Amino acid sequence: MKRLFLDEAKINQTLSKSKDALSLDFDGVIKKALSLKGLSTEEAAILLGRSDPEEHEKIFQAAKSVKESIYGNRLVLFAPLYLNSRCVNDCTYCGFGKSIGNDLRTLSSEEIKNETEALIRDGHKRLLLVAAEDPKNFDMDRLERAVDTVYSVSSGQSKIRRVNVNIAPMSTEEFRRLKTFGIGTYQLFQETYNREMYSSVHPSGPKRDYVWRLHAMHRAMEGGIDDVGIGALFGLYDYSFEVLALLEHTKSLEKEFKVGPHTISVPRIEQAKGSEMSLYPPYKVTDNELKLIVSILRLAVPSAGIILSTRERAELRDELFHLGVSQVSAASKTTPGGYSSSKVSEENSAQFITSDKRSTLEVIKSISNSEFSPSFCTACYRVGRTGEVFMRHAKPGNIKHFCRANSILSFKEYMLDYGDTEIRRTGLELITKELKKMEEGLLKLETEKKLAELDHGKRNLFF
Ligand code: SF4
Repeated sequence: MKRLFLDEAKINQTLSKSKDALSLDFDGVIKKALSLKGLSTEEAAILLGRSDPEEHEKIFQAAKSVKESIYGNRLVLFAPLYLNSRCVNDCTYCGFGKSIGNDLRTLSSEEIKNETEALIRDGHKRLLLVAAEDPKNFDMDRLERAVDTVYSVSSGQSKIRRVNVNIAPMSTEEFRRLKTFGIGTYQLFQETYNREMYSSVHPSGPKRDYVWRLHAMHRAMEGGIDDVGIGALFGLYDYSFEVLALLEHTKSLEKEFKVGPHTISVPRIEQAKGSEMSLYPPYKVTDNELKLIVSILRLAVPSAGIILSTRERAELRDELFHLGVSQVSAASKTTPGGYSSSKVSEENSAQFITSDKRSTLEVIKSISNSEFSPSFCTACYRVGRTGEVFMRHAKPGNIKHFCRANSILSFKEYMLDYGDTEIRRTGLELITKELKKMEEGLLKLETEKKLAELDHGKRNLFF
């Protein structure tokens, strides 16, 4: 049995020390963050302890600058694909809990194919497969078939190019097998790092085992999965505690495997049918607090992708894009079968109700009309830039050169295959602007060459 890497008492001490000492060097912490060195938990606690709106603004500005230094202005798009909703757990905040009584189901291979086709037709290239914990009806064999099915579907020249998964924790051996399925990132959220709250919101089922879940990413890495995504469900417990716990999690992975999390997700509790708690979260997080959470994580772990889902309203999402978010979902359905079947009701069968209901095209338009560059890139995973290799590019801020070129190419492909007249026009203007930002050299020349190839019908071009 591994020694717990998380010391809750130490996190609480760090938080109370930073609250008691407002003279601590706020500007020094911001300066360090701007140098892309990341922040210690003590330094992050200094930022979390501030309540002055002017200081908050400084944190937001710094986060924006760090995100641009690492990833440039691209925003990567993905969509979740829910494979099932039957679950042996009973988490009090979720619409899939076994005692909640919503319509629960498990998709057949045919239904997974239909869902994938619908998502491909929407322009997606990167999916996150989400499975509820139901070992009898949804085991490893079934997951393998699901991943194979998704990769096998094509529509014209389009296919899904990267499958990430969000599924229950496994043993090291099972993770080793999962790696062979050809997945990108393994994602799992601790929900809350506070052990007492964890027990109270997970009354039954295998998910009650806090420690098994806490060390899942360590086992995943031992099993050879080198891109992992961590997260917490904000609203269950004090957000400052959760942010510092996410940093402790990061540091433990870095210490043991030399690679921190590939992504960090920041979901807030959303309304779910049958869940009283989802209506009244015990530690409700305000919009401004969510902005601080995103920004401080961006400053503390500059190389991690920060993921935002459609749980949030469109206007807030647009604001958060400026504060360090680097990956976003669009037009998500949190109901198995929700993309391809009009009979599936979100109200009666969703894990939670989404807030941003815009179509993928509307999200793309909003992104490209602001100062961001939409991206359907899946290049790193496909050229082997994962784990430590990825971090070698990301930490000094070099990955953004690939990100910009791949954003230009994947966005152009989207415009040609799925865009309307408006996005084709505004998109071309954006691509011209993005090309101008590229340094003169081989990468720019090759990008221009590949853009011309896209016009001549070639697809799937990347660096
Ligand atoms: Fe992501 Fe790599 Fe593509 Fe950048 S180049 S968007 S890091 S896959």
